Formats: sequence, structure tokens, C-alpha cells
Amino acid sequence: MKKGKKLYEGKAKIIYATNDKNLVIQYFKDDATAFNNQKKSTIEGKGVLNNRISEHILSNLSQIGIKNHLVKRLNMREQVIMLVEIIPIEFIVRNVATGSITKRLGIEDGTVLKEPLIEYCLKDDKLGDPLISEEHILAFDWSTKKEIEKVKKMILRINDFMIGMFRGVGIKLIDFKLEFGRLKIDGKDEVILADEISPDTCRLWDSITDKKLDKDRFRKNLGDLIPAYTEVAKRLGILHEQSNVSAVNVTKLSSIKRKQQ
Ligand code: 5GP
Repeated sequence: MKKGKKLYEGKAKIIYATNDKNLVIQYFKDDATAFNNQKKSTIEGKGVLNNRISEHILSNLSQIGIKNHLVKRLNMREQVIMLVEIIPIEFIVRNVATGSITKRLGIEDGTVLKEPLIEYCLKDDKLGDPLISEEHILAFDWSTKKEIEKVKKMILRINDFMIGMFRGVGIKLIDFKLEFGRLKIDGKDEVILADEISPDTCRLWDSITDKKLDKDRFRKNLGDLIPAYTEVAKRLGILHEQSNVSAVNVTKLSSIKRKQQ
């Protein structure tokens, strides 16, 4: 497969064309942003870890029948994915109230929700990804009733699966963000899971200590982001190297591999 020109650059990823019109390459950057781009930094090794963690989760979801865009991981920072038309909505799934919902609605931080709560945000950085309702989505044709119904069913299965997967390794899945895309499979319109699922897009707390193992370490200046993401990868059984492997080593390994290719 040949890597073509850059099609799109986002805050944490770059999409490149390939010689197959249906496939693109997703490159995971080390850049971290928060608060609608007001806080920015580069954290060496973050992209490598997110690539591996997202590959692991999406492959597992595929095995339980959740169609998604992942074709295969290419190397330490890149994966081949199916080209989809992204639905311009961020689907937020909450099991425990924390983050924006606590400020917006005055809910006590850490409140366990009776049922998973799905929120919709318009994917628009200029507007700060505002919260929207299902009625907004239908009124402005951002998605259809049929798509939303399909997506909601997928979200609940994804959430159930991920809660169990993380619980098994001593992590609580607090909340996360998903994106979905449209494509035609055998001439039929389909909606599939897209983007990434990683500690950048989830809140993950240690089951016993509530230690934050996600991007809140960057947002809240808690430090040690790479050790936290490495901990998630190790617990999921993704990193088999010596117990003290650091993402910096992973990055070095990646550059050695690139030179060898
Ligand atoms: P909140 O609305 O509390 O800020 O975020 C809820 C969840 O969705 C968190 O797990 C957060 O990481 C994720 N999330 C929401 N918006 C974004 C976004 O624009 N980028 C990323 N990476 N994650 C997001």
C-alpha cells in the first residue's frame, strides 16, 4: 500500500490518502490539546500508545460484531482505516458524572449514574463542540432518525463491553467520546464506529484508588501522562515488554523500525 497526500490534519491525528480510494492511513500524533485548543503541548510517545490501545479496543469490538473503520495497524504510529463520511456529532457516553456535566448541571463529581447517559455535541471546534439535542440533529440534518437509533444501540453494546473489559483489569470506565461514519458496504448504506478509543477519548480511573489514567492528567496538570497511558496498555495486555517499558523507549523503537523500512 502506498501512502499518498495529507487529506486532513486534526488535533491529535493526520489522515493520508492511499492508492486504494476506499482506504486511508490514520497517523497518531504526540500533540495534546484541551479546552478547545487553548492548552497545547507535545507529549513524546502519546501517539504510539494511543495507536496500540485504540487498535486493541477496536479489534475486540469487531469480534463482538461492532463494525468499525479499523483495517489493520501498519506500524507504531499508523493504521489503515476505511474512508468514511464522519457524522458531525461527538457521542458522549457517561457512566459516572464528572467533567463538563458536573459544571453544566451542578451534579456532584463522582455521582454514579443509574443508566448510561448519552449526550450529543456538534463537532465544531470554532463553536467549542456545543451540546445539542436529538431534535437539533434532525432539524439540521446532521444525522437521521434511523442512523441515531442504530448508533444508540451500538453505543450501549460498546459501553457494556468496554465496562467489562476495563473492570477485568482494575479500571473504571467513567465516560468516553465516540464518533461514527457513513459508508457503503456492498451497495448498502452503513454506519460504523470511527475515530479512536484511547485514554485521550475516555476517562479511566483505577478501580481501587480512583487514580486518573487518562487525558485529565494533561487537562488538570497532574503530570505523568505517559506512565498512566502505559499502565492502561500494560493492564490490557498490549505491552509485553519488561515491566518498566516506557513510551519513550517505544518511540525510539518506532524510529528504529522506520529507518529499517
Ligand atoms: P467532558 O464533556 O466531560 O469534557 O468529556 C466527556 C468525555 O468525552 C471525556 O472522556 C472526554 O475525554 C471525551 N471528550 C469529549 N470531547 C472530546 C474531544 O473533543 N476530544 C477528545 N479527545 N475527547 C473528548
